[in-house]
Amino acid sequence: MSARRGKEVVQRLKEHPPTLYHRGQKIEDITTEPGIMGGVASLASLYDHQWEHEAVSLFTSPSSGKKVGITHIIPKTKEELVRLGDAMHLRAEFTQGMMGRMPDYLNRAMAAYAGSAEFLDKNRDGFADNMRNYHEQLRENDWSLTHTLINPQINRAASMAQQKEPFLAARVKEERDDGIVIKGARMLATLPISDEIMVFPSTLLRSPEEDAPYAFGFAIPNNTPGLSFQCRETVDYGRNQYDHPLGSRYEEMDAVVFFDDVFVPWERIFLYRDVALCNEAYSATGAVIYMAHQVVCKNIAKTEFLLGLASLLVDSIGIEKFQHVQDKISQIWINLETMKAFRFAAEQQAGPNEYGVMTPAFDPIDAARNLYPHLYPKMIEIVRQLGASGLVAMPTAADVHGPLADEIERYYQSARQDAHERIPLFRLAWDTALSAFGARQTHYEYYFFGDPVRMSMAVFRNHDRTQYMDTVRDFLARSVDEV
Ligand SMILES: Cc1cc2nc3c(=O)[nH]c(=O)nc-3n(C[C@H](O)[C@H](O)[C@H](O)COP(=O)(O)OP(=O)(O)OC[C@H]3O[C@@H](n4cnc5c(N)ncnc54)[C@H](O)[C@@H]3O)c2cc1C
Repeated sequence: MSARRGKEVVQRLKEHPPTLYHRGQKIEDITTEPGIMGGVASLASLYDHQWEHEAVSLFTSPSSGKKVGITHIIPKTKEELVRLGDAMHLRAEFTQGMMGRMPDYLNRAMAAYAGSAEFLDKNRDGFADNMRNYHEQLRENDWSLTHTLINPQINRAASMAQQKEPFLAARVKEERDDGIVIKGARMLATLPISDEIMVFPSTLLRSPEEDAPYAFGFAIPNNTPGLSFQCRETVDYGRNQYDHPLGSRYEEMDAVVFFDDVFVPWERIFLYRDVALCNEAYSATGAVIYMAHQVVCKNIAKTEFLLGLASLLVDSIGIEKFQHVQDKISQIWINLETMKAFRFAAEQQAGPNEYGVMTPAFDPIDAARNLYPHLYPKMIEIVRQLGASGLVAMPTAADVHGPLADEIERYYQSARQDAHERIPLFRLAWDTALSAFGARQTHYEYYFFGDPVRMSMAVFRNHDRTQYMDTVRDFLARSVDEV
């Protein structure tokens, strides 16, 4: 195998369908299922895209010598890191940043784990090789991954072990010579329309003994017996791309994952029963930094899209001379430059981690991933404020060609666009800001990296501020010396 093309992606999903349930039914073929197939088609198109931009998006596999996706690379130099960032930006641009869980995101996590695999041998001899082998399989077969980290939202005041029943959160039910058996649930997995799932340590595990059965990291196929995905209702209304330009394309889906005595063979296990190592895994291997590097590249593409969209709205209806309109567009531009600066700083200040993997600098990456969840909802609000009634007043394709076609042509023109240009633009703005698809995007951007409240508590804990406190202390001391 080597880097895949779209038709191979679709073919594999037909042959190895993930076990998805949607609106009360098991989906037999996700590649033809209304409400789901648009996302599958976009996922597939990303694989064609990598061949269309081969020089940027592919590199030569260190094991097979074949062309494989650049997002699997374990960079050793800054040049490789910057090249990777450019490719991730280009690929995110292709989806307007609207497929948050394009495979690049978890490819980066697995590349980090594989590059720093020695860390996993601290847990058990052989886990490092398990990870290296899995990463190679992932790269050479070019599979797509979903992942699930957190536990069902039942009682957040209690740990997993203290819930009403021990098997509400997914836990080890049995340990066998050939592997382990998992029972329970995890919440959420975005992109269940993929080949495999990585089930990794969840949010902070508290007690070494009590939480040990919940401490594991493994990856298995999405059609493993006993594994099923309960999808939320689709945000793709099943309409054409004129009416629903984003939702018809980029429904990546979110699902709760059920494990009903799911068997996981040892060769697919990377972490097991070590609470301290599970808690440390994402930071010690650099996985969180690698994932956030992909995210900042994606967020640059997404902000570029919002800047272009908002500017076109302004231009269309001639509101550019109003001061608050200029201020709103400026805010989006500043957000874009901020994200670009974070990416630049993270790549330019990169250095090898303790396992020799070139790793973006953590501080700018951490600032970027903590800031964007607050910026995105504000930019969406700007699109709503600028588009105003235009966002809810737009007719569908059927209307444009229907009995009121002449009236639509006349009354939907704008200062600088005729109705045929203006309607698709405003429908795109509606789908970005107001549709079910748009609302889910805003929710996604706020929560997907974790709860922003707890994330900022971690920022408070993790970043040493002593030098700045000392500077103020010095200043105060000088003032006191004066009297
Ligand atoms: C669209 C979407 C896609 C997602 N995709 C994925 C995915 O692919 N894989 C994955 O693993 N996860 C995914 N997530 C889950 C995401 O990681 C969580 O939403 C996030 O970590 C917050 O956890 P929670 O939703 O369980 O909120 P909860 O922990 O239930 O929090 C609910 C509320 O209570 C507050 N709260 C709870 N506990 C505390 C506390 N200890 N201190 C302070 N406040 C607290 C929170 O601030 C919040 O306001 C996704 C989420 C969304 C919305």
